[in-house]
Amino acid sequence: MTDLHNLTIVGARTALDAGDLTSLELTEALLARIEHTEPRIRAFLTITAEAAREQARAADASRGNTERGPLHGIPLAIKDVICTAGVRTTCGSRILENFVPPYSATVIERLSAGGAVLLGKLNCDEFAMGSSTEASAYQTTGNPWDLSRVPGGSSGGSAAAVASGQALGTLGTDTGGSIRQPAALCGVSGLKPTYGRVSRYGLIAYGSSLDQIGPLAQTAADLAMILQVLAGHDPRDGTSAAAPVPDYRAALSGDVRGLRVGVPSEYFVEGMEPGVEQATRAAIAVLRERGAEVIEISLPYTKYALPTYYIIAPAEASANLARFDGVRYGPREPGDSMWDQIELTRGHRFGAEVRRRIMLGAYTLSAGYYDAYYKRAQQVRTLIKRDFEIAFAKVDIIAAPTSPTVAFLIGQKTDNPLAMYLSDVCTLPINLAGVPGLVVPCGFSEGLPVGLQLIGRPFDEASLLRAGDAYQRETDWHTRRPQL
Ligand code: GLN
Repeated sequence: MTDLHNLTIVGARTALDAGDLTSLELTEALLARIEHTEPRIRAFLTITAEAAREQARAADASRGNTERGPLHGIPLAIKDVICTAGVRTTCGSRILENFVPPYSATVIERLSAGGAVLLGKLNCDEFAMGSSTEASAYQTTGNPWDLSRVPGGSSGGSAAAVASGQALGTLGTDTGGSIRQPAALCGVSGLKPTYGRVSRYGLIAYGSSLDQIGPLAQTAADLAMILQVLAGHDPRDGTSAAAPVPDYRAALSGDVRGLRVGVPSEYFVEGMEPGVEQATRAAIAVLRERGAEVIEISLPYTKYALPTYYIIAPAEASANLARFDGVRYGPREPGDSMWDQIELTRGHRFGAEVRRRIMLGAYTLSAGYYDAYYKRAQQVRTLIKRDFEIAFAKVDIIAAPTSPTVAFLIGQKTDNPLAMYLSDVCTLPINLAGVPGLVVPCGFSEGLPVGLQLIGRPFDEASLLRAGDAYQRETDWHTRRPQL
């Protein structure tokens, strides 16, 4: 079998089950691919080659076991904000430079129990704050389609690794777009599940009312396989939902006849690149040709999503990041008193963007400003959520662009935080509403990938995956590979 690194998870599953391939062969092929491409891509912060080989051997040894799940023997990689017992977890930050978690996140436990092989930990913006992965304290990840461009962020390593064939699937996290925007910019598929669908126990928190863990892979069908393993109630996460988990693969019927697809005019924002709009509208036309009913809708509060998000997310971040004091986690800067040590550790070891968010959050939460900013933002958030409730009375899913632009140049937006924040205008509302969002590749503009975003009702990931898969049966954008 040639080019094992181009296999989809579905394809690898078939080959493994038929005995045409061993997990160790597949793992070795991906480790070789990582070695070949990583000097240019720089997606990994930690590579756990030996542990991966061991897990692959164990998967091969238990091949006859009838209980093995969809990811048994499949090599994956993990964004470095998710705790992995015994494996360094940095959040892309110097403040956790040497942090080795004593326990694994629930999602890691589920993957391991399901026999998945973990190749390592992936680069991201520091504490998942950013849209380009340039805010990592360690390295800049290149976009596999054009190494002078960003892979998007904050899960840029997770998207670049899939696009360059370094892992068959990865985990990312999405607080305001961090799975979907990099998936779009790297030409891969990515899913932000409903808030509460996947346990966040062991995820190092950024914005706790917004954060969700989700998969990235080449196809919607592959995402369905990963979600199947991740989804479900976890008593260790108080926000995890008890909603039943459907059979996601069984939902992939290829049939979207009668599916009502809403297209919100507000998402075709001013300044959107014409090539992005064109590719998005062409993708919606494909769904219509397959029998979906396309309906123009309005989500009038969309324009408030960006300011609302940039009040709420930093407020939550400022509270969540208070625990990093150099006393309990990570390295400590020397100082004369405990307070000096804390100040120096936080001052030197948090990057500029993280410090900016902590200051913004502390400000909007402070007495006298709380009502004007934080409370107000929460009220507007309710209106944004209501927009979606009203829309979903008329339509089954919503189709929209993911990012107003294709991948931008490394360095292009690093001096302008507001320009960087604007990258997320089409993805933030989905987190504020807590609903699920899927991205599938839908074409190219100026040689760079564009992603179609599909938005669903709470806990209806199945309809999104069905529509995304139906689209991929009709198109071949998801099969295009960058030259590396
Ligand atoms: N880019 C957005 C931010 O910086 C979203 C990040 C994310 O989803 N983690 O907050």
